[in-house]
Amino acid sequence: MTAVSEKQMKDAGSPPYVHNPGMQHYDTIIIGAGAAGLMCAGTAAGFGKSVLVLDHADKPGKKILISGGGRCNFTNRFTTAANFISANPHFCKSALARFGADDFIAWVKQSGISYHERKHGQLFCDDSARDILDMLLQPCRDFGVQIHTHTDIQSVEKANRFLLRTSKGNFSAESVVIATGGLSIPKMGATAFGLKIAESFGLNIIRPVAGLVPFTFTGHEKGELKTLAGISLDVSVSCRGQSFSEAMLFTHRGLSGPAMLQISSYWQPGDELDINLLPDVDITDFLALKCRQRPQAQLGTVLSELIPRRLVPLLMKNHTMTDKKLRQLGEKEQQQIALLLHHWRLKPNGTEGYRTAEVTVGGVDTDELSSRTMMSKQVNGLYFIGEVVDVTGHLGGFNFQWAWSSGYAAGMAIAEVS
Ligand SMILES: Cc1cc2nc3c(=O)[nH]c(=O)nc-3n(C[C@H](O)[C@H](O)[C@H](O)COP(=O)(O)OP(=O)(O)OC[C@H]3O[C@@H](n4cnc5c(N)ncnc54)[C@H](O)[C@@H]3O)c2cc1C
Repeated sequence: MTAVSEKQMKDAGSPPYVHNPGMQHYDTIIIGAGAAGLMCAGTAAGFGKSVLVLDHADKPGKKILISGGGRCNFTNRFTTAANFISANPHFCKSALARFGADDFIAWVKQSGISYHERKHGQLFCDDSARDILDMLLQPCRDFGVQIHTHTDIQSVEKANRFLLRTSKGNFSAESVVIATGGLSIPKMGATAFGLKIAESFGLNIIRPVAGLVPFTFTGHEKGELKTLAGISLDVSVSCRGQSFSEAMLFTHRGLSGPAMLQISSYWQPGDELDINLLPDVDITDFLALKCRQRPQAQLGTVLSELIPRRLVPLLMKNHTMTDKKLRQLGEKEQQQIALLLHHWRLKPNGTEGYRTAEVTVGGVDTDELSSRTMMSKQVNGLYFIGEVVDVTGHLGGFNFQWAWSSGYAAGMAIAEVS
């Protein structure tokens, strides 16, 4: 990637997203002016390729602007292949090795963007996510990338070249990059376009589902959880052999917070969540100690020292525990309490879906793509990058890192075509 100096940023002219009417030919046309598309555009254009970016939204990089609460968690210092979900867990390795978190951080530094680290290596802008979007747009400006927003793509066909029919006219190109992202937050412009294009060219799709999304409940469980809305506590949650230790938040609809968002990407309908409400405490030892120190204390009072007060009666009621004095607790009851607090089992009825999901799990099957270039193995010149591909990051900056890495891989591959 050609990193951009501060001087170049100041010298930047008008925004590059200006409509240029008429049929024109480009080295590459990128569909989707999001994180991956802009990364790919700047990379290919930096090596002299003519690049057109098309997007149906009113401006580029909308998800970048709202990400990380407006501060964009742009990468994670500890990014490895283990932070990604994919039918082929090795697929992301090549792209991450060629343009990893360190490379993006170096570019951020060189661009003079100040940032800070939060827990688990998550990096955020100090000021605004707009800094990252401006950084991505800078090489697009410098190297003449055309960005057309408000553009509906009607068809993508391939003969000798690719032909695109759009609401802004027809365009042809040597290659086409699909960077239309996932299905989450349709009201921000997310569509299934990329998956439909993949299918129309005969590529296999790994069934998409909402990921990094809050859980919902029905019936009396929903009613009970609702009474706890607003309460947050650090837990460890497990499902399908995966565990995450982060905060859990009770909401009016069910459960959210980083721990629940993380595990939601693995959860499947019908699965139970195994929640350790006290991951850092051995409740058996704790009760034994309290029994010695305060035998007259009520069980509920003592448990309230460890978990939020409002949660205690709900747990006790649902597990037919009576609120007795500690000295009256038998060994079996202590074991029952330990089991409950270390393995609280809940079965969500679903998730909030794409309306609030941060990502889509699944997408274009990685078996269909070269891991070095992101190009289709079947269709020469057709690339898929970013979230539309079956590579989904954990929460914490990994999804953007995948957008940068895969965008760079495709951009370099396009640059290499003579
Ligand atoms: C609320 C929220 C916060 C997030 N915060 C973070 C974070 O802090 N860190 C992190 O790593 N990840 C975060 N993510 C995830 C991250 O935003 C995505 O993984 C990332 O943007 C994917 O990049 P992409 O380029 O593949 O897709 P996108 O950035 O979504 O870009 C896709 C582009 O394609 C365009 N498009 C879609 N359909 C069509 C069509 N039919 N025709 C033309 N154009 C089309 C869209 O308008 C969009 O501009 C967040 C997601 C959400 C929803």
